[in-house]
Amino acid sequence: MEQDYISSSSDSQSIFDKDSKYVMQTYGRQPIVIASGKGSIVYDIEGREYIDCVAGIAVNNVGHCHPRLVEAIKDQAEKLMHVSNLYYTEPQAQLAEELVNVTGMDRVFFCNSGTEAVEAAMKLARVHTKKTDFIAVEHSFHGRTMGALSLTYKDMYRAPFKPLVQEEMFVPFDDAQAIADSITPNTAAVIVEPIQGEGGINVPSEGYLKEVRKICDENETLLIFDEVQTGFGRTGTWFCKEHFGVEPDIMTMAKAIGGGFPMGAIAAREGVSFGRGEHAATFGGSPLACAAALASIEIIREENLIKHSKEIGEYFRNELSNLSTEGLIEVRGKGLMLGVQFDRKCADLVEYGRKNGILLNCTSETVLRIAPPLVITKEEIDRVVNVLEQA
Ligand SMILES: *Cc1c(COP(=O)(O)O)cnc(C)c1O
Repeated sequence: MEQDYISSSSDSQSIFDKDSKYVMQTYGRQPIVIASGKGSIVYDIEGREYIDCVAGIAVNNVGHCHPRLVEAIKDQAEKLMHVSNLYYTEPQAQLAEELVNVTGMDRVFFCNSGTEAVEAAMKLARVHTKKTDFIAVEHSFHGRTMGALSLTYKDMYRAPFKPLVQEEMFVPFDDAQAIADSITPNTAAVIVEPIQGEGGINVPSEGYLKEVRKICDENETLLIFDEVQTGFGRTGTWFCKEHFGVEPDIMTMAKAIGGGFPMGAIAAREGVSFGRGEHAATFGGSPLACAAALASIEIIREENLIKHSKEIGEYFRNELSNLSTEGLIEVRGKGLMLGVQFDRKCADLVEYGRKNGILLNCTSETVLRIAPPLVITKEEIDRVVNVLEQA
């Protein structure tokens, strides 16, 4: 009876079996067990190699198991992992300063995930404006907790959990006039992803965010940029807002912030801040998470990953545009946040990729999302393009 526990068998099937028996079956997973990674490559438990074009959903920006990141986590783990926010720690203060530097904002609040960052942004918008409502954009994704879920477009995600914080608040993507028309004296904030991630790598037109900024200012409504997916070099700049030359009042961060270590944060402009006791998170800004984030930012800076993301991203984008794959409509995105739009579902391409050593992800059913670690090389990109060409 106890054999199960002590069994050293680690073949994939036994892991699938345990998952299907013990884990709530919320995820549609690819049938591989990933055991280790290095840079842009991951290995499954049977030793097969894959070029990772998913990066844990735009998380592993500095690559898998970057030695400096591993070292920083090890060092901090030996010193102190957690003490709560009843005390000060050095890594948290240092990271706060770094984040203010890289975001150009005034102050930060630390949490542990993207959805938590969105919750914090919502609470901050309400407490700052003393208004209650939000406007979000069609095809948005902001997270799965009740507040963030209210701002997430897909009805399938929201319907079973109603009532939410607010119903019917979505305006069409890339339509500033629709925001102007929907805003009321009770609108606390407008929330947008500067480039939509889960919604299919949708890039708004040039003047859109500037226009939205203006509308928010005219109505004393805050503007929230959800940079959870677009942050930390993903789009070829530190943050996606830089492409559009627009500053939000509040921005959310998570995914790549810790280089793979779970963490979230918001940053806000001067004058927009929580007061004492208005928000808290037990794990928020733990020394361990902060040490990981500090190392990750250092790596991005010292290895010039922002510039690399921009340049190699352009190369990747061009190569993808030249693909003769059937049903390809367009390639869009910035830096290494790319979407390949097909006129059909692309789950078969994900499977073909996996069988040929490439991890891919399909979002919005018909969009192949390409978001590899920012350390990906030209040779690796050529291998990916080659496989897609044959697909
Ligand atoms: C992934 C994502 C979230 C949610 O982050 P979690 O860490 O999964 O809660 C929120 N906003 C955007 C734009 C995202 O891409």
